[in-house]
Amino acid sequence: MFVKEVRPRFIKDSRREKTISITLHTYHGTFTASAPSGKSTGAHEVGAYSKKGKAHSMKNLRHFCRLIKSKNFFIRKLEDLKKLKDLIERFERRFGLLGGNITYVLESVFLKAAAAEENKELWRLIRDSTDLEKKSKMPMPIGNCIGGGLHTTGIRGKKPDFQEFLLIPKEKSFRHATTVNIRAYEYARKLLKSKKKTDESAWNTKKTNEETLEILKKVAEKYKLRIGLDIAASSFFQRNYYEYKNKSLTRDRLDQIDYIERLIRKFGIFYVEDPMDEEDFLGFKQILSTTKDYRTKSLIVGDDLTTTNVGRLSRAIRSKSINAIIVKPNQIGSLLEVAKVVKLAKKHGLKIIFSHRSGETMDPALADYAVGFGADFIKMGIMGKERLIKHKRLIDIERSLN
Ligand code: PEP
Ligand code: MG
Repeated sequence: MFVKEVRPRFIKDSRREKTISITLHTYHGTFTASAPSGKSTGAHEVGAYSKKGKAHSMKNLRHFCRLIKSKNFFIRKLEDLKKLKDLIERFERRFGLLGGNITYVLESVFLKAAAAEENKELWRLIRDSTDLEKKSKMPMPIGNCIGGGLHTTGIRGKKPDFQEFLLIPKEKSFRHATTVNIRAYEYARKLLKSKKKTDESAWNTKKTNEETLEILKKVAEKYKLRIGLDIAASSFFQRNYYEYKNKSLTRDRLDQIDYIERLIRKFGIFYVEDPMDEEDFLGFKQILSTTKDYRTKSLIVGDDLTTTNVGRLSRAIRSKSINAIIVKPNQIGSLLEVAKVVKLAKKHGLKIIFSHRSGETMDPALADYAVGFGADFIKMGIMGKERLIKHKRLIDIERSLN
């Protein structure tokens, strides 16, 4: 692959914040990739940009792009990104860290160009590069229907402490699953009488956690869906206590474990992400071990706990903390690291959920990554153009598979 030109620029994400986009010109065409950004980020994620800020990262990136202009890269499969990664690391040792958002976008745009040169769809290039899945399968959507926590920081007044109230279809086709989620989302708006939306286009509400769960359950029953929560517990864990908005509900670690177990049983919750603080591997373990035998066969999911980091995933596996993991490529800043995480998770029978970020872009690549790496689920907002473009991409991939 001959690099004719690489041009980075800032674009606005769905939260109207600056994020990075890179366009690569080769003899096979022009390719663009961009980075989403998180707000409820895990403490162990790689920094999204240089510690000196986005402008400094951009200055360094421009320098890096000049260095790779007119160079030839041999990239025919995922592992071949290693050469690019080595160059990036050598550059970072001299000039400082570019940041995970930038390194992820560099790898992503080169992989898109490689897929075109190989005359393959992006997801197929990944699938053919790895021995993760023999047959392609479609992930089921996990749709963010009602929101609270950090994703509602622009909205004043009461709101749930939990960050996401999720709907999870169980259908044969992704397209059908998406349609059901959209109908259910509209029904939720009617029940909530809500007009405002959170960062991920979920409905905003002034209800408490449990009142919101009642509504979610009603919606799910009507459309025969499973329900889930992203508790994002680290976002309200302060000085050893889970600080709920209702002060009389401040919980210590054991109370929190007990509360989550009670909620799972009471509402039949299928999916629970980050129920405990991001350092509490044993708290996760306790919840997983007691809920294992419930009829719900609940998934206890690591996001801030594991941060798409193979070392943290190994620890979570050793301590039996989770049976499912969130994968966000820019949390670790490299698709090669994503491959390691997915491989280890599959080896240990964990379910895999590829996930958007709360600030998203019009790049549909997450859809290809979810299919290529053989994810069981993909977590996204149900509405908003930045999320719908990924839904549409998945529907197109599904059509091409049938
Ligand atoms: C999440 O916590 O799952 C999430 C998508 O949040 P963010 O992108 O803000 O980190
Ligand atoms: Mg999360």
